[in-house]
Amino acid sequence: MSKFIATAVIRGSHQVVNHAETSLKKAISEKGKDLKFEFPDTAFYLPFYYAITGKELKTLGDMEISLNHAKSMLSAEPDDKSWLPYLGEALDAGIATLFAEEIIEAVRYIYGEEPAKEADGFTYNGFITDTILRDLGIQLVDGRMPGFAAVLGAAKDSKEAVKVIRQLQERKILIFLAGETNGNSVTKQLRQENIDLGWETYIVPLGKDTISVIYALNWAIRSAMMFGGIKKGNYKDILKYTLDRVHAFALVLGELDDIKWTTGAGAISMGFPAISHSKVPEIKPNGVCRYEEVVWEPDIDKIVDKSIEVRGLKIEIEKIDIPVPYGPAFEGERVRKEDTYLDIGANKTMSFEYLRMKNMDDVSDGKIIIDGPKIDEKEGLYPMGILVEVAGRKMQKDFESILERKIHHFLSEAHGVFHMGQRDMNWIRISKEAYQSGFRLEHLGKILHARMHSEFPAIVDKVEVMLITDEAKAKKLLVEAQKSYKERDERVAGLTDETVDIYYSCTLCQSYAPNHVCVITPERLGLCGAYNWLDGKAAYEIDATGPNQPIKKGRIIDSVKGQWEGVNEFVYNKSNQAISVFNAYSMMDNPMTSCGCFECIIALLPEANGVMIVNRGFTDMTPCGMKFSTLAGSVGGGNQTPGFLGVGRLYLTSKKFLLADGGIKRIVWMPKELKEQLKEGIQKRAAEAGVPDLLDKIADETVGTESSAVCEFLQRVNHPALTMEPMI
Ligand code: SF4
Ligand code: ZN
Repeated sequence: MSKFIATAVIRGSHQVVNHAETSLKKAISEKGKDLKFEFPDTAFYLPFYYAITGKELKTLGDMEISLNHAKSMLSAEPDDKSWLPYLGEALDAGIATLFAEEIIEAVRYIYGEEPAKEADGFTYNGFITDTILRDLGIQLVDGRMPGFAAVLGAAKDSKEAVKVIRQLQERKILIFLAGETNGNSVTKQLRQENIDLGWETYIVPLGKDTISVIYALNWAIRSAMMFGGIKKGNYKDILKYTLDRVHAFALVLGELDDIKWTTGAGAISMGFPAISHSKVPEIKPNGVCRYEEVVWEPDIDKIVDKSIEVRGLKIEIEKIDIPVPYGPAFEGERVRKEDTYLDIGANKTMSFEYLRMKNMDDVSDGKIIIDGPKIDEKEGLYPMGILVEVAGRKMQKDFESILERKIHHFLSEAHGVFHMGQRDMNWIRISKEAYQSGFRLEHLGKILHARMHSEFPAIVDKVEVMLITDEAKAKKLLVEAQKSYKERDERVAGLTDETVDIYYSCTLCQSYAPNHVCVITPERLGLCGAYNWLDGKAAYEIDATGPNQPIKKGRIIDSVKGQWEGVNEFVYNKSNQAISVFNAYSMMDNPMTSCGCFECIIALLPEANGVMIVNRGFTDMTPCGMKFSTLAGSVGGGNQTPGFLGVGRLYLTSKKFLLADGGIKRIVWMPKELKEQLKEGIQKRAAEAGVPDLLDKIADETVGTESSAVCEFLQRVNHPALTMEPMI
């Protein structure tokens, strides 16, 4: 590292550590050492400090430990390796900076100053919760989000800011915004241009100053413990994990100052390089990290591609011949009523989408037909049916629903197109802005044609799209579509674990949790909720060497626990020989492992002789004495943890739900919202189990989140679990 930079880094570090010391002292004198503090919805205390040292800082007084640690790192002689980590003087100063920044933000939270607000009420994101990390889990591993960029400072003007951000969005990179340059910032510039900010559009403003970058860093570092199963305090492996698996980088617009330098040095220790638009003196590589460098890219049009090159990201940009930007970052954008040019469906007009398989000869690839009036010639509300016909040598009837379900993503990823719902309950809007850019009805067809090919190259050879705007014709087709929707539902409902010989694996999450294998059966979907058995089957057809492989069940060992010879063997091999026995229907005896993306967690409640279930998104306390975030910490990481299980939501209403442990009658507590969502399914299964009023006997947060209150309630309603045989 050049002398110039090392000096700036160390100078900045002293500044930040002093800042932390002043604010912590003030907080302690005003609020006392014993004041408890927790960032919102996390099980990782002060996550950065926790990851590096393993220490749980729970109070203001505890934060002095981290502060003193940071101070000692700055005062130590270069050859004094008594403190951790030792990465070289300037990089350690960077780590000390991050310790201190975490304290500064914690104290700000205590004083209600975070998340930061602008005068007009606009609120920054602030701390990033565990829930968000888990929510994004699959997207991080399946390539939908190939990387993260922390964009610091401000661009030359707001147009330039938009240009850079759009490039990142089109490349599906998640963007964090922080810091400012001379009172201006990219956040402010994007707001000036009325750009939608938020998780849906991949643009997350963290805070006003550079210090808020710590939110992105103490978020990234959690993934090592949450998904990688690396133990807290094992800082070497943790930093290696962030280097190898968290594809982040910083993009610095505007001048660099000492605080940016020193925060950047901390990020570099995690393996995240920085690419700067303003000139930087050369930095020589040094030490354990791959990127001990800040790269200068003077051409603003090239800065995004340069960053991708430096960080070594693999990104494919979808090239579709339409006049608006395209990519998943635009999926979450809404089109407001006043901005709408074409409005279709929304329960106001007849609207549906239907995909069917055809013979090769009956489909002409790329043909797009508009059957009926050209509704895109005049603004308004219209009926329309979308018919997609596909043919392919490996196409199967079973895949129709999978391809059809993708219509939502495909259409809504176009900037200015809003799509909601599915089948005969969809809603499409095209914005005035998109219309003015030249977007017409036929472009919907172009998108569907292009994406069906790019997403399903192995099963789709030909795609034809018909947009039926003639209401009478559309109605006629709707009858056929509805018949087909019904047939598909019946077919899926009829699939059971017994009626098939092949299950499917999913090892997509192994890039995060190296020993985790999801075994997907017709009656138990992947724990993230995103892959069911049919999806697994289709995915295997699409990519025979991909993460979804067929598993021959083989000889059955135990039909109640759900254990098969072939499955055991497969799991053993694919879990790096970590798991040798696997039961699909038990949470007590060799259960499935969890990566971290589970929709729900089931936990044993011994005192109730049953189980409680909590869904991701429910952030309050639960009767087992842990919040979702804490529970998740003990379930994830690819280990078998009897008594705890991560599952997909729909498994809760499966006939195979905890078959070996007593089934649905074991459920004694779940959040009200989850009860509502699954009401129909639970009632059906409960009736089959001979307890038709089970739903009313399941406690929720309105009964209590204390185990004693729950038990009292269970006694009162005579819950069936109380008289079942003991779970342990
Ligand atoms: Fe990950 Fe399992 Fe979902 Fe596959 S099915 S993405 S392994 S959680
Ligand atoms: Zn996962």
